[in-house]
Amino acid sequence: MKVAIVGGGPSGLFLSILIKKKIPAAEVIVFEQNAANATFGFGVVMADTGLAHLQRASPEVCTDLIAAMRFNDRQVIVANETPITVQRPGSGGAIPRIRLLEILGDHASRAGVHIHFEHQLLDFDRLDADIIVGADGVNSRLRDRDESAFDTERRHLTNHFAWYGVAKAFPNPSLVFRKYKTGYFVAHYYPYSDDMSTFVAECDHQTWIDFGMEKMSQSERKAIFELVFSSELGDCPLISNNSSWRQFPVIRAHKWFSGNRVLIGDALNSAHFSIGSGTRIAMEDAISLADALVLYPHDGQQALEHYVCIRKPQKQKLIKASEASFTWYENIRQWMDNYDAQEFVYRFMTRTGRVDIDRLRKQYPGLVQGFESAGVVPRKQKVQL
Ligand SMILES: Cc1cc2nc3c(=O)[nH]c(=O)nc-3n(C[C@H](O)[C@H](O)[C@H](O)COP(=O)(O)OP(=O)(O)OC[C@H]3O[C@@H](n4cnc5c(N)ncnc54)[C@H](O)[C@@H]3O)c2cc1C
Repeated sequence: MKVAIVGGGPSGLFLSILIKKKIPAAEVIVFEQNAANATFGFGVVMADTGLAHLQRASPEVCTDLIAAMRFNDRQVIVANETPITVQRPGSGGAIPRIRLLEILGDHASRAGVHIHFEHQLLDFDRLDADIIVGADGVNSRLRDRDESAFDTERRHLTNHFAWYGVAKAFPNPSLVFRKYKTGYFVAHYYPYSDDMSTFVAECDHQTWIDFGMEKMSQSERKAIFELVFSSELGDCPLISNNSSWRQFPVIRAHKWFSGNRVLIGDALNSAHFSIGSGTRIAMEDAISLADALVLYPHDGQQALEHYVCIRKPQKQKLIKASEASFTWYENIRQWMDNYDAQEFVYRFMTRTGRVDIDRLRKQYPGLVQGFESAGVVPRKQKVQL
């Protein structure tokens, strides 16, 4: 079996490792447009539930990822200038994206995968492979070359965001929702090494217009966020790594494969960064595709059908959660205007519809006590025996 993978991000590299591990005779080639030591963005978060899935698929890779992660068991949410600490039931880990790719790249090379860095693949027709995988991210060329075959739907959200870094390790992952003058701003930051944090900056479209950001340079936009979040940043400026301002593209490829071409990760469905799970969702796609190829090594079509069958129901739940989350953020002005800190956090925690008050009570008892004291939710009646 010969598998060509376009894109050496988390999904493409993880897929290559799993295929070589399970079908050693397979020829697996990865084409990555960037150099081996280059990537976009800064650190990414991977929650413990996500890690557990990866652990089952490849304990060796997972062990190395965990060793490179920085763990934290709480998050601070600031609304109306009131910090509320959310003690998490399990700890989430954060890792520099570059380190994540190095670890995956090392495992792939050792397993015998051929990785061609600095090779941007644009001509897919000349590829000689049984299966061609589009793991080339949200702007997938493989998908865009044949949009109708993949039945692709796309639109952009209205909020604006940019992915920055900061040269200090904040004590806790935090989400700060701040009104400044007439603007509504959000900072989502978390430490991912001893001296670096990721800082995702976001504002709604009305703020973008009111502050004249449309006509500003990248550095002027950055300066606005440095001013709004000066109490958090202190002396540390925001650091750019091709940190362009964007409106999040919602991509949905309704058909997951066409002929021998198949999509995984962000190329298939973009997952909004507010659920902090895009990387592990992409890597879980890789697990399902690898499993399907192992089951039907001599029948590509059957394998791809099986991939859709085993992965689509689960992925749709995660995508639905992502959609509920970004819809919540799109209405951030309404939440920030109408609710005090406790109610705001309650609505934030339940925004995806996957967590209700009973689950909150079980997983975050301290937080729910605060909601009860503030009258956001009724106190739970004690059962009389
Ligand atoms: C601001 C922001 C913050 C985020 N934070 C988190 C987080 O905390 N946790 C989390 O889990 N996820 C996070 N994500 C989401 C996460 O980055 C993505 O979901 C994840 O990277 C998807 O992996 P992928 O392998 O599908 O695609 P990508 O990571 O995009 O990888 C695609 C690869 O393909 C390469 N490529 C593209 N086209 C070609 C071509 N034609 N030829 C060769 N190579 C090509 C690219 O260079 C890239 O290396 C965040 C995203 C954003 C925007």
